[in-house]
Parts: sequence; C-alpha cells; structure tokens
Amino acid sequence: MISGYYLTQAISVAANLRLADAIGAVPKNAHELALAVHADESSLYRLLRALSSVGIFKLRRDGRFALAPLGQALRSDDSLSLAPWAIYNGYDFHWRAWGRLLDAVRDGTTGIEQISQKPFFTLLDFDPSAAKVFDSAMGSLARALNGVLVRSYDFSRLRSLVDVGGGTGNLLAAILRRNPRLRGTLYDLPHVVEAAAFNLRKQKLTRRCQVIGGDFFSAVPPGADAYILKQVLHDWSDAQALAILKMIRAAMGERGVLLVAEMVIPAGARPSMGKLVDLEMLVCTGGRERTVAEFRELLARGGFRLKKIFSGAAPLSIIEAVPRPGPA
Ligand code: SAH
Repeated sequence: MISGYYLTQAISVAANLRLADAIGAVPKNAHELALAVHADESSLYRLLRALSSVGIFKLRRDGRFALAPLGQALRSDDSLSLAPWAIYNGYDFHWRAWGRLLDAVRDGTTGIEQISQKPFFTLLDFDPSAAKVFDSAMGSLARALNGVLVRSYDFSRLRSLVDVGGGTGNLLAAILRRNPRLRGTLYDLPHVVEAAAFNLRKQKLTRRCQVIGGDFFSAVPPGADAYILKQVLHDWSDAQALAILKMIRAAMGERGVLLVAEMVIPAGARPSMGKLVDLEMLVCTGGRERTVAEFRELLARGGFRLKKIFSGAAPLSIIEAVPRPGPA
C-alpha cells in the first residue's frame, strides 16, 4: 500500500506510450517495442518486466512480451479500454495535485487550487489539453460502468431525460439505445458538449437527442420527466451540490424524477472504494463522496424526497428521488 504509486505511474506510462497497442496480437521484444514507441530500450525493458510481474504483460521464455488479460484493458481499440483513465491517473496536473494531499488535509484547500490557483473545472476551461485528458478519462470509465448502470434502473416508462453534467454523452447514448422511445438532452459546459455532439452523431442518435452547453449553477433545461446526475454531485461541497439540486428542482415539474448515480459510501468503518475516491475529490474538486444519510439530507434540503436506492450497478448506486410537495 505504501508504494502503491509505483503501479499507478507504471501503468499510466504504459498507457501513454500505447504499449498494449504496440504489442498487439504478436509478442515482441524490447528492441522492437522501443523502436515502435520511441523509448530507451533498456528502460522500456524494465518497465515491461515490472508490469509483467503483476499480470499486465507477460514475459515469455523467448524474451518477448505479450499482453496478459489485464493488459487488454490498455488497448485503445478495446471497447472497454481504460487507457484514458490510466493516463489521467498519472497525468501531470493530477499527479502534482495528489502531491499536495498533505496541505489539503491540513487546510482544506484542494491540491488543484494549490498548484494552479484555480478550481478544478476552471483549470480545465483554461487548459484544453488537460480538459481532453480528463474528459476522455471520464468517458472511458463511463463506458466501463455503463453496461450495468443502464440495466439497473427501468428507464422505459420515461419519455424525456436530461443528463446534467453528462460529459461526452456515453451514458445518455447507452440509455437511449436501450430505450427506443426515450428522448434525451445532454447538458454540460460548452467546451465539453462539442465532443459529445460528435459522439452522438457518430452513434446516429441526434434525432432523439439534443445537446446543450451551459452552466448548471445558472440554468438547467426545463420540463423533462427525469434528470440524471452521474458522478456530478461528488465534485461539489454541500453548499454547491445544494445549488445544483435546487436548480434542477426548479426546472422539473411536480411529477419529475431525479436520478443520482454515485458511489454511496457505507457509514462507519466498513471498507469501500468510495472512501478512497473521496480523497480524489478532496485533492481535485473539493467535493466529497456521501453516505445514504448524507444524500437523504442533501436531497431534502434541495426539495426532494429520497425514494429508493438501486444498488445493482456497483460500484455505483442509483438514488431515485422525487420532488417534495410545496416550493423548493
Ligand atoms: N456524468 C459524466 C461526467 C462526470 S464528471 C460521467 O459520469 O462520466 C463531471 C461533469 O460535470 C464534467 O463533464 C464537467 O464538465 C461537468 N461540469 C462541471 N461544472 C459544470 C457546470 N458548472 N455546468 C455544467 N456542467 C459542469
């Protein structure tokens, strides 16, 4: 555990160099791979050997490296590729922000603000290459988690759904494909939805889906049956999350449904990946992961009643909430 970062960086570098693509179906030696990915042969050999020792690559008796089953997830042409997620985990600004965890714990300022003097999403707005790395990372993680997510809730009785902070549109596309009568709206920051529009066109979903760029602290597209927030509330403090909830409450009708997809963390001492992802929020966005009780209270303050939790989409859960009667 103490040296866990060895692996994070090693995997991130392998993804960055596209080593899994370079190896492909035919095992290769370090000399061939060094030429293919423009690396120093002896250093690359050591990286490959280390990653072979943990089951990502395989060092064969003839000295060639092959892909082990785990390494398949680093291929860029794999539909469940996690290469962009691996790249992001070791990527410059993210890596430096984690280096400031001590200060984040001491004074509560995110690592991102300490290294850049900007909040996370403002930094991305200023730095298109960082934004691309983050958006692809979230996109790849979403593709990996979407399959179970779209099956764990019955969207078929809904007619219109807004994905608020929907990123590059992978979740909405998966929901629309499975529910042919549903119409969707993807809502995210203007620089993000550009890529989403392209993505949805490619999947031939533009007829049933509109894309709107905007700021969810100022407005949310009104009047849909349902709104979904996936891994959005965890980016924000309670006060900011409340502002987003109130904005959605005001945009939806009295009979609307709000779906919140997040890692709901167990109260107390039980282990959960969400308790570590919570530190990622501390370092990057200033948000937090929440327990059921915390979600219930936050939703109530935002004008909603927590109705049911669907936990078939582990590690995420879908929290279904409905408007509480009366003004938000
Ligand atoms: N729902 C997606 C993305 C989650 S990341 C998924 O699960 O993969 C959080 C998203 O919130 C990002 O796409 C980010 O661009 C968006 N976001 C951040 N601030 C926003 C704002 N003020 N208005 C609208 N979207 C915002």
